[in-house]
Amino acid sequence: MSCLFCKIIDGSIPSTAEYQDDRCYAFADIHPQAPVHLLIAPREHLVSLAEAGEEHPALLGHLLWVAANLARKKGLAKGYRVVINTGDDGGQTVDHLHVHLLGGRGMTWPPG
Ligand code: 5GP
Ligand code: ZN
Repeated sequence: MSCLFCKIIDGSIPSTAEYQDDRCYAFADIHPQAPVHLLIAPREHLVSLAEAGEEHPALLGHLLWVAANLARKKGLAKGYRVVINTGDDGGQTVDHLHVHLLGGRGMTWPPG
């Protein structure tokens, strides 16, 4: 398995863990785009949201719940942004589904 995030999840590539459980692993983004920038990835290798199947809604919900818990833990009481870049047009660069949690500064809209 040559997937970067699978290697981060199995520990063969180091990362700064923020949370983990039997379904997901959350870690600090190596190039943070905000004072808080975490990535939440399922342990299961799923390429992107576009590959989610009928067996995945509970997992997808779990990832969002973990994002909300991490936002509370990080003190993001003023708000935050949750992003799932999907595919080329979505700006996805790592082909293992992940949720971005961004916070600690005001966000703009629309995104680039
Ligand atoms: P995407 O562009 O696919 O939505 O997000 C991929 C994210 O992974 C980017 O924000 C990028 O900074 C982050 N990233 C890429 N390589 C590594 C790495 O080796 N370690 C960590 N912690 N983050 C990475
Ligand atoms: Zn993977």
